[in-house]
Amino acid sequence: IRDIFSLTFFPLSLQAKMSRPVQARRLEGTDKNIWVEFVKLAVTYSKVNLGQGFPDFPPPDFLKESLEKALSGGNHMLHQYTRAFGHPPLVKILAQFFGKLLGQDLDPMTNVMVTVGAYQALFCCFQAFVDEGDEVIIIEPFFDCYEPMVKMAGGTPVFVPLRPKPPKGSKLMSSADWQLDPAELASKFSERTKAIVLNSPNNPLGKVFSRGELELIADLCVKHDVLCISDEVYEWLVYDGKEHIRIASLPGMWDRTVMVGSAGKTFSATGWKVGWTVGPNRLLQHIRTVHQNSVYHCATVAQEAVAQGFQREFKLYGKPDSYFVQLPKMLQQKRDRLVQSLDAVGMKPIIPEGTYFLVADISQFKSDVPDVPDSDEPYDSRFAKWMVKNKGLAAIPLSAFYSEAHKNNHDHFIRFCFAKEEATLKAADDILQKWKREKSSP
Ligand code: PMP
Repeated sequence: IRDIFSLTFFPLSLQAKMSRPVQARRLEGTDKNIWVEFVKLAVTYSKVNLGQGFPDFPPPDFLKESLEKALSGGNHMLHQYTRAFGHPPLVKILAQFFGKLLGQDLDPMTNVMVTVGAYQALFCCFQAFVDEGDEVIIIEPFFDCYEPMVKMAGGTPVFVPLRPKPPKGSKLMSSADWQLDPAELASKFSERTKAIVLNSPNNPLGKVFSRGELELIADLCVKHDVLCISDEVYEWLVYDGKEHIRIASLPGMWDRTVMVGSAGKTFSATGWKVGWTVGPNRLLQHIRTVHQNSVYHCATVAQEAVAQGFQREFKLYGKPDSYFVQLPKMLQQKRDRLVQSLDAVGMKPIIPEGTYFLVADISQFKSDVPDVPDSDEPYDSRFAKWMVKNKGLAAIPLSAFYSEAHKNNHDHFIRFCFAKEEATLKAADDILQKWKREKSSP
């Protein structure tokens, strides 16, 4: 009776007031997210958005047709749940495809698992392998989610930087000029190290790790019995005849590596959010446990269409008609277009060997955005905000890809995405040219 009385006479808002803390401890220090802030700024102010990494051109026709067929073809079961760890046609062709690339027989049921984008694949890896007290080595600059994901799993990120070596003379810098110091890298490995995250081709620099660099990492992984989470979402986006080498193919590495991939990057369809992990069953079995206790199941029609896309690419592998041949060709031209635009105005680009990102030096534009002494916010972040608000051009500050302690070490660079239509790149060029003219006129 009292309960009925209180429900009738006291408003719910008073009864429901809570005073205990609601946030789980594992979320501490993980609440900030650069994309939430910069995507909002780009939506509000940008005329040209070269910020977040997605193409503004359509995916290939064959992929769209596969999705249309999956949606409206005769098989209405494609609208229902499929196998939890990956739609059978997709895991089958991924096993075939990556099996061929690695020179190894892969079992679709145990060596491949489909995820909601590479993002979920990464989350599953950290949850599956990282315990309280474990250390995870992250190479800076890095795709920003690695750090909070390690922390949410209870682990401690340990950062090791790629160090830039200035090129000789007036040559533009290349992403290859950013290198690990072997002794510094070795010093980060200890008995507490559980895993290293490798991202080649690397977002944001576009660095494609050479065989020698990968061997260095692989030798340390084997020596210290460490896992490798290998984020290879940009595996097809390599330029100038460079080769993407899969660390899992190096001696001793298959057994300790999880490869992470993304149909979003592979087929220019980031909104589909289809990703995958490939690796030995002894690792994937734990990734499946995380998946079955969280997401459990990914969209069937999108998986069916991606499977069709891979079947096509398997047949055309290495041939001129292959999308995996055509896409990097097209993107290399776009890269060169943006390099030229930036170089012409003095925003010195670092030429990327891969990915669809390019980092540029804003030092010559510092006079337009005066420094605020003692500000906690890195200079490049204030610069990028000023640029989108005053020039309508959106980019991402490089400091967003560094840990808190190192954010101010590289605060005069911004990252552009060049996976854009010619009209978008032309509009960016117009903004930069106009800006340059305004700068030079008294
Ligand atoms: N890894 C890297 C390095 C990325 O750049 C991205 C997307 N920007 C992802 C993973 C996430 O990919 P997806 O959209 O497939 O979740």
